[in-house]
Amino acid sequence: MKILTSALLFCTLILLLSLSQNTRADHDNQETLAPYQPVYHIPLRIHLGDSNRAPKDWLPILEEINFIWLSQAGICFEMHTVSHNNKITNGLDLWFESTIPDWNGYFTDLHDMHVRDSPDLRPAKHPAGSSAARTAAHELGHALSLGHKQDSDDNLMRSKTYGWQLHDNEITQARTAARQLSFVITNRQQCNPAAIHTEP
Ligand SMILES: [Zn+2]
Repeated sequence: MKILTSALLFCTLILLLSLSQNTRADHDNQETLAPYQPVYHIPLRIHLGDSNRAPKDWLPILEEINFIWLSQAGICFEMHTVSHNNKITNGLDLWFESTIPDWNGYFTDLHDMHVRDSPDLRPAKHPAGSSAARTAAHELGHALSLGHKQDSDDNLMRSKTYGWQLHDNEITQARTAARQLSFVITNRQQCNPAAIHTEP
């Protein structure tokens, strides 16, 4: 009986050990098999002087922008918010504004992107959580050289929907542009949290 108990304990121990090793191996695989490495980090200045939303309330919205781009294309925007209109020297500039006549958002060049605080978008089957995050991620797609793609409401580059998905050829094209714009390239799986300004 004692031998049987010992044998059972031994088997249980081996099983637990192999299970924990499997879990660890799967986790390692996930990290090393991430589809798009390295990760390109692009500085992005967020201008909030004309926004009606408090700076700290932008944090989850900015996190969703990075989720859209990191999870699909291995691109991080290293964001900091400001209340002034001075443009960044190296990086991109995007304004969130309480009102923009006729537009949810628009892209003119890397230092002239504008998005309304609350864009009005049509539904998508797999929608983004925030219309401001989706529209900003869309304008950033233009900054990364992408044009419009209108064949599905789920597309990030479709006009005026909640879609946030990228096609493989868009990912390849955006990563080529991101490589030119990034100053830091890492194998990290996460973006740095946005730095939110507190002074008026
Ligand atoms: Zn557009």
